[in-house]
Amino acid sequence: MTAGAPRPTIDTSRPHPARVYDWLLGGKDNYPVDEAVGDKLPPEAKDAARQNRAFMHRATAWLAAQGMDQFLDIGTGIPTAPNLHQIVQEIVPSARVVYTDNDPIVLRHAEALLVSRPEGLTDYIQADVREPLEILEHARGLLDFDRPIALSLIALMHFLPDDQDPYGIVGTLVDALPSGSHLVLSHAASDLYPELAEQVTAEYAKGGIRLGFRTRTGVGRFFDGLDLVEPGLVTAPEWFKDTARPDAEGSGIYAAVARVS
Ligand code: SAH
Repeated sequence: MTAGAPRPTIDTSRPHPARVYDWLLGGKDNYPVDEAVGDKLPPEAKDAARQNRAFMHRATAWLAAQGMDQFLDIGTGIPTAPNLHQIVQEIVPSARVVYTDNDPIVLRHAEALLVSRPEGLTDYIQADVREPLEILEHARGLLDFDRPIALSLIALMHFLPDDQDPYGIVGTLVDALPSGSHLVLSHAASDLYPELAEQVTAEYAKGGIRLGFRTRTGVGRFFDGLDLVEPGLVTAPEWFKDTARPDAEGSGIYAAVARVS
């Protein structure tokens, strides 16, 4: 964070993705405009948020257990315990975690993300993923780009419809990572429950939020050129490693982890 930067302005006149997501997770950092969108969504939207968060937890813990100790998390969201750095530093106390989001409410709550273990580091960059070079420039001052980094784009890229160059942006970020790095990505599906996906997209659109849910092929394109780790590109509850397998349940969220070779 920039010292002396003005306190971020929170616009409570229109809904914001981070705050609707917070409402879906049962959080308190949202406003009536956000609740109004959440209330209109099908009940499965709350399941999707929970499943997505649980995927973040499992994937991140697994990566830390593999020895990954540098994380760049873009589209972090409003703090929700356990946050990524808490999961990672529980396993690797010296891990360095850099968070990024473009929503001023996340910046306002960033202090909760910055309570690092003394051996490690957490930091926060207020930035938009559509400016990947800006994010990389800041991150280079905090992480060692000569060693593997886990880049997490969790429930983020479906906020970038195709006209916003989502594949180019992810390509720019991934190209900056050295061999042995990983991409962790989850994404709302357009093809698993098409009617629900259309309903969700329409309700967000009424609040002025554009969504670009994608098919399995469309989500898979984010991993082009990377090596998917088992179990590959699956739904969020299907992605598990050595932890107990979650109950089989339907999900409209795709998730995967891939290695940069
Ligand atoms: N990654 C978290 C939060 C997902 S909610 C999790 O999975 O639990 C999506 C987050 O992406 C929100 O916090 C929202 O503010 C952020 N976001 C949306 N568009 C963004 C953009 N263009 N640049 C950066 N962050 C963005």
